[in-house]
Amino acid sequence: RAKESGKNSFCLFDSFMEAVVMERLAIESGLRQALVNNELALHYQPIINLADNQVTGFEALLRWNSKDLGSVPPLKFIPVAESTGMIIPIGEWVIRQACGFIKKLHEAGYADLKIAVNISVNQLVVGNVIENVKETLQEFQLEPWLLELEITESILMESSGTSLKQLDELATMGVSLALDDFGTGYSSLTYLRQLPICTLKLDKTFVDNLPQVNNTATRAIVEGIITMAHKLGLIVVAEGVETGEQLSYLYHHSCDFAQGYYISRPIPENEVNVWLINRKFLNNNACQNSELML
Ligand code: C2E
Ligand code: MG
Ligand code: MG
Ligand code: MG
Repeated sequence: RAKESGKNSFCLFDSFMEAVVMERLAIESGLRQALVNNELALHYQPIINLADNQVTGFEALLRWNSKDLGSVPPLKFIPVAESTGMIIPIGEWVIRQACGFIKKLHEAGYADLKIAVNISVNQLVVGNVIENVKETLQEFQLEPWLLELEITESILMESSGTSLKQLDELATMGVSLALDDFGTGYSSLTYLRQLPICTLKLDKTFVDNLPQVNNTATRAIVEGIITMAHKLGLIVVAEGVETGEQLSYLYHHSCDFAQGYYISRPIPENEVNVWLINRKFLNNNACQNSELML
């Protein structure tokens, strides 16, 4: 009997593994067609300045609507794209798309909105991200600070030093660099001084636990990160802000910028203009109301 149930659980495990492998294969072959079939798109999530509530820019987030698999979340397909090398052409497409969007924003009268783009460590080590960024900025005639590249702490695990050199070069070009998901990786704080970044993105997992008064540990970590970042001359963006309480807590603890569903979900490119106009309208109304209240 024991033998039988052992055999059964082995079978279960086996078919589970099979499903995982099949899904991965489907993603892999689907992804090969994604670029040519025009199945990729960027959505843009607004980032606001907590000091004045103004939009300072957007983070570009990749979306894949596969004709065979439907909508596949980035957390499923980005790792596959990375391990197959497909992240290189996809990453180039993302940078080009984002720069084209900055140009469109200019033409619509928004001259100082920054766009942040996520890049994988492979793009630094294997890809030619510097040339790619340089050429694309030139093609669209954009000032480099309008483009921000978000990297994660995994960049530091790449030991050859190649990526650090590449980051230095990008920073010298005037491109902004941000450290994404800060506080979740393995990085040592001493690395922070070595990286040519100007922004820290405080990971959502910390924001999630704000601002409950009894959560002293999270509050200590968040307040500590903000203080440390400012002393290092870095700007802090809070990720994943979902409530007004979180926003107000972050504002009162000197966090600089915020993004999250409370402000807006990532928006398809063709809806951004309407969102910006509505936001301006609401802000103006809010000002008028507070004037009336005075
Ligand atoms: P990330 O760069 O940390 O992006 C933030 C993620 O949090 C996004 O998930 C965003 O939609 C989500 N988010 C934002 N605000 C909220 C909120 O208030 N609540 C909740 N629950 N979630 C929120 P998304 O779009 O699924 O992307 C996941 C990750 O995939 C990104 O994390 C990034 O690491 C990666 N990724 C996305 N686009 C690209 C890309 O173009 N290239 C590369 N290399 N990676 C990308
Ligand atoms: Mg990011
Ligand atoms: Mg992030
Ligand atoms: Mg994150």
